[in-house]
Amino acid sequence: MSQQGYVAAPPYSQAQPGMGGYPSGYGGPPPQPMYGHYGAPPTGVAKGPVATPPPVSQYGSPMQQNGAHPQRIQPPSAVSSPYGQPPQVPYQSMAPQSLPPAQQLSNQMSGMQISGYGQMPMQPTQGPPSSAPQHPLQPGPPQMMSQPGPPHMMSQPGPPQMMSQPGPMVPGPQTQPLGSPPPMGAAPPMTGMAAPPMGMSGPFSGPPPMGGAGFQQSPGQMQPQGFPQQPGPYGGPMAAPQPGFPGAFPGGASQMAGPPQKKLDPNSIPSTTQVIEDDQAKKGGQLYTTNVRGQVPPLVTTDFTVQDQGNASPRFMRCTSYTFPCTSDLAKQCQVPLATIIKPLATIPKTESPLFMVNHGETGPIRCNRCKAYMCPYMQFMDGGRRYQCAFCNCVNEVPAFYFQHLDHMGRRMDVYERPELSLGSYEFIATLDYCKNNKPPSPPAYIFMIDVSFSNIKSGLVRLVCEELKTLLDRLPREDGAESSVVKVGFVTYNKVLHFYNVKSALAQPQMMVVSDVAEMFVPLLDGFLVNFTESRAVINNLLDQIPDMFADTNESETVFAPVVQAGVEALKAADCSGKLFIFHSSIPTAEAPGKLKNRDDRKLVSTDKEKTLFQPMRGVYEQLVKDCVSQGCCVDLFLFPSQYLDLATMGDTPTHTGGSVYKYSNFQVEMDGENFLSDLRKDVEKPIGFDAIMRVRTSTGFRATDFHGAVHMNNTTDVEMAAIDCDKAVTVEFKHDDTLSEETGALMQCALLYTTVGGQRRLRVHNLSLNCSAQLSELYKSCETDALINFFAKSAYRAMLNQPLKTVRDILVNQTAHMLACYRKNCASPSAASQLILPDAMKVFPVYMNSLMKTLPLVSSSELATDERAYQRLTVLSMGVEDTQLLLYPRLIPLHTMSVDSDAVPAAVRCSEERLTDGGVFLLENGRSLFLWVGQSCPPDLVQSLFNVPSLAHLPPDQSSLPDLDNPYSKKLRSIISSICEQRSNSMKVLVVRQKDRPEVLFRQQLVEDKGLHGGASYMDFLCYVHREIRQLLT
Ligand SMILES: [Zn+2]
Repeated sequence: MSQQGYVAAPPYSQAQPGMGGYPSGYGGPPPQPMYGHYGAPPTGVAKGPVATPPPVSQYGSPMQQNGAHPQRIQPPSAVSSPYGQPPQVPYQSMAPQSLPPAQQLSNQMSGMQISGYGQMPMQPTQGPPSSAPQHPLQPGPPQMMSQPGPPHMMSQPGPPQMMSQPGPMVPGPQTQPLGSPPPMGAAPPMTGMAAPPMGMSGPFSGPPPMGGAGFQQSPGQMQPQGFPQQPGPYGGPMAAPQPGFPGAFPGGASQMAGPPQKKLDPNSIPSTTQVIEDDQAKKGGQLYTTNVRGQVPPLVTTDFTVQDQGNASPRFMRCTSYTFPCTSDLAKQCQVPLATIIKPLATIPKTESPLFMVNHGETGPIRCNRCKAYMCPYMQFMDGGRRYQCAFCNCVNEVPAFYFQHLDHMGRRMDVYERPELSLGSYEFIATLDYCKNNKPPSPPAYIFMIDVSFSNIKSGLVRLVCEELKTLLDRLPREDGAESSVVKVGFVTYNKVLHFYNVKSALAQPQMMVVSDVAEMFVPLLDGFLVNFTESRAVINNLLDQIPDMFADTNESETVFAPVVQAGVEALKAADCSGKLFIFHSSIPTAEAPGKLKNRDDRKLVSTDKEKTLFQPMRGVYEQLVKDCVSQGCCVDLFLFPSQYLDLATMGDTPTHTGGSVYKYSNFQVEMDGENFLSDLRKDVEKPIGFDAIMRVRTSTGFRATDFHGAVHMNNTTDVEMAAIDCDKAVTVEFKHDDTLSEETGALMQCALLYTTVGGQRRLRVHNLSLNCSAQLSELYKSCETDALINFFAKSAYRAMLNQPLKTVRDILVNQTAHMLACYRKNCASPSAASQLILPDAMKVFPVYMNSLMKTLPLVSSSELATDERAYQRLTVLSMGVEDTQLLLYPRLIPLHTMSVDSDAVPAAVRCSEERLTDGGVFLLENGRSLFLWVGQSCPPDLVQSLFNVPSLAHLPPDQSSLPDLDNPYSKKLRSIISSICEQRSNSMKVLVVRQKDRPEVLFRQQLVEDKGLHGGASYMDFLCYVHREIRQLLT
């Protein structure tokens, strides 16, 4: 693991320059990201001639096919409640049309100013050091070296500490490998930190970096900055000696057992909450204008307003670094992955302007003849405005006559500010027929609700709950902006071992059911009357929804099919010639005799073996074909699961995660406990902004190109990202590689074009442009890194890699790459200092805590105590997450409530995710975007308990409390207001789980304290940092 040098060592130097090729496999088959290739057009699963399928049986009125049976369960009545309006991506509407993306070439770009990006010290605790932002600290306590303990294995040069002192260093900005142009950015002089990194090349000018040496007792005034010195024997709370990589995964990195270490003061290591607070303080509430190339945006956690001035908002595109290295050698050397996380339909706050629409009529969007890039602010007009040079491939194109415009004295078109495509980073084009399937306008999409009516769903009350909810929910189907009603059609299917289709044509007095029991050759038994307009068929549909729960009330059928259900949905959309979404409410592993039948393969003995990966690999065959069929029809699958035991989520979740869909899981579902959460998820899902039958293409300027894509997508070739649908929460992480040298002058440009069908049936092209800087200096790259984006990339690539490699290998690679990235910084960008000092780039100072947290997530942790489906579930959900989601998942917010002021609306500042921050007398709220915990300390004051829970003491609190009483006192009101505001911001619901200190459920809560040692393996943040530090030192020797 640590043997190789970090400079382009074997595993890394492979395939990808940027982030490395995880040794064989990591990253899957190179060119074809998803699974193997799904070749040509689907042919496949039973597709009966649409026109003639003979219904197997037809009944005039609803009736049930499965015999009647005992066991009638009185389903609870449905709960319904109002909910907030969903985020909308507004844009003007116009005529429809469309077209297919094209090729990419590359090229160069035209002037945008070079930004100096002066990074500022974000932390009060920053080291005085050198200019380049960095954070010295010394986890592997320098002392430790001279410590009693067993010596290091690393051949650390002598007594590190000694080198101390400013030796050669001089105060001031730090030196940089050879004079590169000084960044224009203003570097905040204070704190050294931001100092012009490059500029001064002279041997260190500037304050001694952290005291330079081991212990860095920095002299006098320097002290306050930088990580505080550790007092002699570190006084931190946990003083016990720690072995090398305590808590390491079995067989994992821990072999590197080192000497016992003493703890540093936990306050001295970089704090995520501090970084978040500092960014908020500095950039919060401000306007972020996108007119500067390579500008690093505020953190995802910061509240800011974007003004598009030529580059896409960070809400749409966020990069791992805003400065790309000029050469692939540099990229390989630093191992920093070059990637962009794109959320093309991201919701924009109301305070920001919606995307403008561009309509060039029948001509369609203007594109480069050669690379097919769309007109954008980077194109250079010339020749009096008659021609323009493509910024991506350099091809010179004629300007179409209708588009001609004179240039001003600066060479800019006179109409530059009147045309969104010439002045903005993001906009939409109305697509022409060329962009539509078969050259004809698309039909509006359809939503098909497919309810598993087998025994367990009936018994739990789920079927009745869904049916009740749909009566009101269908009034809220998404609609085109400005449209009075939705044109989305709806259809209904129920199923167990057989499928029941319903004719709900408005002319009928009663709905009609048609049963298809031959699930091997799925077809849709009726065309007319299956997909209808809800408003027109409201009476018949409500009638049906009233009847369904009763029709199956006595069922004792416990077997289900699954693949045929999805196939039926695809066939129905095919017959109607439209795209759409299937909402499937399913409870058990599909064991009935049918294509795609699954069996229990949950063998926990495989955990921690080389075969563990098979637990996460979906079954192929039928399911592989199903994905192809879905994607080619624009059929997105959303799966709502209600399991009481293993159901092979890895396989069942495969279709949703390759069709732009979502998987929701409610284990051991109980209407009273989970009903409201489920309904909240369903409502958000039905209403959310979404585009169908989408295809995305990322073009780049010359010198680099998109090579890999992670997300709920399907790839038929190496460049077109196909998504049956994509909604406002789905993000695609795109990795880039060099194929030539990039120029500092022209920078690196990327253009993401998403062609899709709106919920109103219009074909649109959404274009996002982003320009980055390029530099021959690695220090520039490190300054422009975005930790939250980096960790999103690592999470997705590791979760993909685990399908092909043993988990231990994946974890080792993550640790290795962390050390490589930081060692390269240390070697090339940081001021010389003692090896015992850990120096982190300012922009990545909390990267280790996120990386360590990632390795402790359920999918990567390898514990046979964990439910396989739960691990598979988390793996799949992360694959399509945006940066905000992965940030919160990997570093939850821990909010102290006992000290909050009820007089203000402010949410108390979060504290570090560690047990040490908890207090017996306190109450804390923890959220990670997926779950919400309310932790109550043992000695919480009775009056606070009374105010929040309406019980006299903690002892009176029911053990499985999952809601808060609605009480009329300021504490209760404030807490509920905090919770509801949190839930509003998330794409999925979160049930509040109240845990008392020392109660059993506390384990779930403690798993979220990511700075602590993992309950199922995995080091504490402190130990991980020490370990990484040792790795770095070894790499540097
Ligand atoms: Zn071009």
